[in-house]
Amino acid sequence: MNEGHSAFLGLELIRKLVQNHNLPFSHAKEVVASSVIFTTHTPVPAGNDVFPLEMIDRYFGNYWPSLGISRHEFLDLGLKIGEHHNFNMTVLALTLSGQKNGVSELHGAVSRNIFRNVWPGIPEDEVPIDHITNGIHTLTWLSPSIKYLYDKYLDKDWKERLYAKEVWDKVDEIPDEELWKTHCVLKTKMIGYIRDKLKEQRAANGESIERIKEVDTLLDSNALTIGFARRFATYKRANLIFRDLARIQRLLNNPERPMQIIFAGKAHPADGPAHEIIKHINDIAKQEGFNGKVILVENYNMTLARNMVQGVDIWLNNPRRPLEASGTSGQKVGINGIINFSVLDGWWCEGYNGKNGWAIGDDTFYDNEYHQDNADSESIYNILEKQIIPTFFDRNEKGIPEKWVKIMKESIKTIAPEYSTHRMVQDYTNKYYITSMERYDKIKASNYQFAINLSEWKKKVAHLWPQVQIIADKTANQLKERNFISGETIPIYATVILGGLEPSDVKVQAYYGTIGSNNTIEKPEIIDMNLVEKNSDGTYLYSANITLYEGGEYGYTFRVIPHNPDIINPFNLGLIRWIVQ
Ligand SMILES: *Cc1c(COP(=O)(O)O)cnc(C)c1O
Repeated sequence: MNEGHSAFLGLELIRKLVQNHNLPFSHAKEVVASSVIFTTHTPVPAGNDVFPLEMIDRYFGNYWPSLGISRHEFLDLGLKIGEHHNFNMTVLALTLSGQKNGVSELHGAVSRNIFRNVWPGIPEDEVPIDHITNGIHTLTWLSPSIKYLYDKYLDKDWKERLYAKEVWDKVDEIPDEELWKTHCVLKTKMIGYIRDKLKEQRAANGESIERIKEVDTLLDSNALTIGFARRFATYKRANLIFRDLARIQRLLNNPERPMQIIFAGKAHPADGPAHEIIKHINDIAKQEGFNGKVILVENYNMTLARNMVQGVDIWLNNPRRPLEASGTSGQKVGINGIINFSVLDGWWCEGYNGKNGWAIGDDTFYDNEYHQDNADSESIYNILEKQIIPTFFDRNEKGIPEKWVKIMKESIKTIAPEYSTHRMVQDYTNKYYITSMERYDKIKASNYQFAINLSEWKKKVAHLWPQVQIIADKTANQLKERNFISGETIPIYATVILGGLEPSDVKVQAYYGTIGSNNTIEKPEIIDMNLVEKNSDGTYLYSANITLYEGGEYGYTFRVIPHNPDIINPFNLGLIRWIVQ
C-alpha cells in the first residue's frame, strides 16, 4: 500500500476473509498484516489524510458490522494518540500492515518520530518503520546521447547490471572532451525546446509579435544554467533563490560569467500559497535585470522534465528540511551528468559524498522557518559565488572545465548504481516481498492456522502483559559509581516477574551506553540476557555481560519485549516493559 490514501483496501481484504472464510476479525487481520507492506511517501500533512469521525460514522456505519467489530474497535484502527477527533489514514495503514517503510534513510527516521505514538513506550529508533530509498528508472530518464557514451565505454551488459558499482567505475574512461561536448549539445537542444515552448506560451497568452520574436534571443548556451522543475509545493521553496534580489541579480548579470535559471512546475489547484510563489517568480522574470535570465515555463509535464534533466548544468533543489521524503528529480539529472545542488534532505542526505555535487546548508533541524530560509539562501549564494560559478568557468586550453567534468563523473558513478529502480526493487524484493510471500504461502498451506495461532498468542501476551515486571537489579547503582577501564566486561543481573507468560514468550534485554547531556542513554547497545534460573518464588533471574568500550559515565537499564520466532517485528505489538515505569 502506497500512502495512507490506499489503506481502506486493507479493511476490504479483512472483510473478504471474515465473510468468505468465516474468520473472526483478529484472525483475518493477522492474515492481511502478514501480506501487506505499507510505504509512507511524505511527512507533509497534505499527503496524510485525516477524516472527522462524523464522516467515518456516515460512510462506515454499515461497514464495521461486516467486519464483526464495534464502532469503537473500528475507530481505534485509525486514531493517533492525542488526535482523538480525526481518523488518520496513515495510522490505519500502519496498523494494518506487518511491514512499513519510508523512502529514504532520513525519511525513515522522520516517520518514526511522527508516528512514535502509535507504539507508545517503544524507543523512537525502534519504532517499526524502516526505509528503502527511492530510485529512478534509468533508461526512462537517460538521454540517448549519454546512453551512447555508456554503450561505448562501459561493459556491454551495463544495462542489465545498473545496480553494480563496478559497472560505473568505467565512467572515468569517457574522455572529458567527449562527455563535455555531449553535454553542450544536449544543453543547446534543451534551449531550443524551451524557446519553442515559450513561443507557444506567449502566443497562447496573446502577447505581441515582438515579445514572441524576443524568445529567440533568450537563453544563452554559454551561461551557467540552473534548472528547477517539480511540483510547486510550498515546502519546496521555489523562490528561495530570490530572497536577496540584489545579490542574485548581480550573479545573473556578470558579463564574464553569465548565469540563468529555468523554472517549471505546477501547483495543486487548491494550494493558494503555492500559486503565490509561482506569481512571485513570474513577476521577477518580467523585471528589468531578470528578464531573459529567469525563465518560467508553463505546462510542466514529463517531456519538459526530461528535456530539463538532460540539458541544464546544475539542478537546484531547496526543500525545507526534513520535508522532502526522498525526491527523485536529482537522481534523474545525476545519470545525465548534471550536478546536484541541494539541501541535505531526502535521498541527497545519503547520496551526497562531498565531491559529487554541492550541499545547501547543513544537517541542522530548525524550528524557525525564517531563520532556516535565511541560512539556506545564504548558503546558496555563497556556494554559487565561491564554488559553482568559478568551477564552471574555469576552462582549459580546449575550453573544457576539467574540474567540473570531474564532478560530473563522480556524480554519475555514485548516483547511477544506488538510486535506480533496479536497486530499489531488489531491496523491496529481498527485504519485504519474498518474506511476505513466504509467510502468506505458509498461512494458506496451514488453512490460516499459522495466522490464527499467532493472533491467539498475541492476544494472550497482550492480556498477560500487565503482570510483567522487572523487580530487582542486583547491580543497581554499581556502574555509575565506578571508573571504568575501557574494554572492561561487567556482569549484570535482572530479576523478572513473567506472571502467566513463559520465558519463551519474551526477551529480557539490557539497554546500555554512555549517558548524554540530557541524562538519557545515547546510542544504546541492546543485548539479549540469558535466563540463569527460576527462583523459588516463581520469578526469573537473567544475566548478561556487558563490555564498556569507552570511559566516562555509563548507564544501563533493563526491558522485556515479546518474543516469538514467527512474528515479523516484536515492536509491532507495542508492548514493552522497562525497569522503571
Ligand atoms: C521526477 C519528477 C518529479 C519529482 O521531482 P522532485 O524534485 O523529486 O520533487 C516531479 N515531476 C516530474 C514530472 C518528474 O518527472
